[in-house]
Amino acid sequence: SLTAGIVGLPNVGKSTLFNAITQAGAESANYPFCTIDPNVGIVEVPDARLEKLTELVNPKKTVPTAFEFTDIAGIVKGASKGEGLGNQFLSHIRQVDAITQVVRCFADDNITHVSGSVDPISDIETINFELILADLETVNKRLDRVQKLVRQKDKEAMAEQEVLVKLKQGLEEQELPARAIELNDDETKIAKGLHLLTTKPMLYVANVGEDEIQNPEENENVQKVRDYAAKEGSQVIVVCAKIESEIAELEGEEKQEFLDDLGIAESGLDQLIKASYNLLGLATYFTAGEQEVRAWTFKQGMTAPQAAGVIHSDFERGFIRAETVAYDDLMNAGSMSVAKEQGNVRLEGKEYIVRDGDVIHFRFNV
Ligand code: GDP
Repeated sequence: SLTAGIVGLPNVGKSTLFNAITQAGAESANYPFCTIDPNVGIVEVPDARLEKLTELVNPKKTVPTAFEFTDIAGIVKGASKGEGLGNQFLSHIRQVDAITQVVRCFADDNITHVSGSVDPISDIETINFELILADLETVNKRLDRVQKLVRQKDKEAMAEQEVLVKLKQGLEEQELPARAIELNDDETKIAKGLHLLTTKPMLYVANVGEDEIQNPEENENVQKVRDYAAKEGSQVIVVCAKIESEIAELEGEEKQEFLDDLGIAESGLDQLIKASYNLLGLATYFTAGEQEVRAWTFKQGMTAPQAAGVIHSDFERGFIRAETVAYDDLMNAGSMSVAKEQGNVRLEGKEYIVRDGDVIHFRFNV
């Protein structure tokens, strides 16, 4: 399954945030296929539609869908120079699908900042620069090999060389992440094969102080992070990691009361989960039976059999049809039978592209 890796310089609040993630942790019995690894935190994806469906169907059990965060600890500065721990850090980043970068925006004289003062842009650049250098090395190595083929007039190699040169210029001269270097569709396909670190989508998590969470925009560091992220088309979530670890211990009404007292609509962690989920192009469909109402994660663009395969590979192999109703249509109807009368329950075949919010009953051969 897809995962977002959490990175950041020392003392920015990574562990505090990751602890909040594991604290809030999903009921693992519901997710037997999830990774068992101390560096992976499994969270439930908050979705108000699941509660509404539960009210409608009144099942024995309701199961949210889950999402994984990976804690990527370790040194950052100098990582691209190779050697031991640095290599480990980069190879962990290679394995994740999106990067969540925690940035310190809180001031606290008791907590040392690695470079002496709170400076979020310098922190971001330190990390991004290591990733850019690592990518530059990948590009240079590949360029060496491709140039040999170009001398033999290999057409594919020529096309690849062009892309590599563009990437090299962007990475080296402009210090841009690969995701910010303009490439057309064909070039993007070629670049994909390089598995660069800086093509992975990035989400910045601005960690503010306890007294700032109500008005984070007054924190000028948050503004700086927002401006930086906007330039490369990345998103920013504001959290107070310390408060998140307190919220993570609460559930249901207690959690809501605590949030109300703080004057915030949604916990930072819930925002982070949703944003990471979207960043990876993930979406949710539902199954709704008397036994169980459940949310399932699929990747946008999946066909009905592929989405069925998320539940079980047998469902994909034996797929016949997907009896499908859009969440809104079902809610407007008030019941499955009325939705059917209104003609909103469709029988979809193998080619159907599943949409976010579909409520599906799969028919399959065993
Ligand atoms: P890491 O090295 O990035 O994993 O950072 P930690 O999570 O260990 O946090 C470093 C220190 O900063 C710890 O003493 C935390 O309690 C403190 N810290 C983390 N988040 C906040 C915050 O939002 N506000 C304040 N005041 N301190 C925080």
